Amino acid sequence: MTLKIFRAIIMGPPGSGKGTVSSRIVKDFNIKHLSSGDILRSQILNKTAAGMAAKKYIDEGNLVPDDVMVNLIIGELHPLKQNWLLDGFPRTVPQAETLYQKEPVDVVMTLNIPDKIIINRIKGRWTHAPSGRIYHTEFNPPKVPGVDDVTGEPLLQRDDDKEETVNRRLQAYWKLTQPVLDFYRELSILEEFKGKYSNEIWPHVHKFLSTKITPTQYTEYKGFS
Ligand code: ATP
Ligand code: MG
Repeated sequence: MTLKIFRAIIMGPPGSGKGTVSSRIVKDFNIKHLSSGDILRSQILNKTAAGMAAKKYIDEGNLVPDDVMVNLIIGELHPLKQNWLLDGFPRTVPQAETLYQKEPVDVVMTLNIPDKIIINRIKGRWTHAPSGRIYHTEFNPPKVPGVDDVTGEPLLQRDDDKEETVNRRLQAYWKLTQPVLDFYRELSILEEFKGKYSNEIWPHVHKFLSTKITPTQYTEYKGFS
């Protein structure tokens, strides 16, 4: 008997807890997580043709061209004989269209966290660069404000954690992503999860996936075609 592979996409703005939710999905369901950022970084490390083509765009903070991305991601997905959860792809409508032709996606989950919550979460973050220790003015404050607990050295705020930078990234995300979400909404495969925290969203994601992944897709590793 052959089984249909379960194909899912997760989307969400930076700081939405997409990483947390993805790792819980992997833990509870029989599904492989693929991140376009991780795939690109490994291609660059291995100096592949795709990696070399992508590097300059990433270094300049731009999106990698659609044709490079599409070939790379479809090439990774196509040989898979297991359920998958894709993260970071598609980022544009042409990417979504080609993906849907080659690998018909079953569900697209989008995490809709209020921008305000994301900004508050990120802007309170301070780091001790030499050790990588991370503090948060509200959730995990240092003993002395602005100072590392262990070394007494000053804490820094990463440029990309500053409020105006986060704001700009969020705006760019929604501008770029809205048409992709609309594409999936039209296909009636979009499921939106609203909430403030991963712990609040997670039970809904779990329940939703439990209704979408069939018992055989959940238990079988072999027999996929
Ligand atoms: P996050 O904060 O969610 O990790 P990121 O901006 O760091 O977001 P990654 O997914 O880690 O994004 O990808 C790193 C870089 O790789 C992006 O900035 C972009 O240049 C490129 N990239 C990743 N996915 C795509 C895609 N689907 N289309 C075009 N470029 C992409
Ligand atoms: Mg990243």
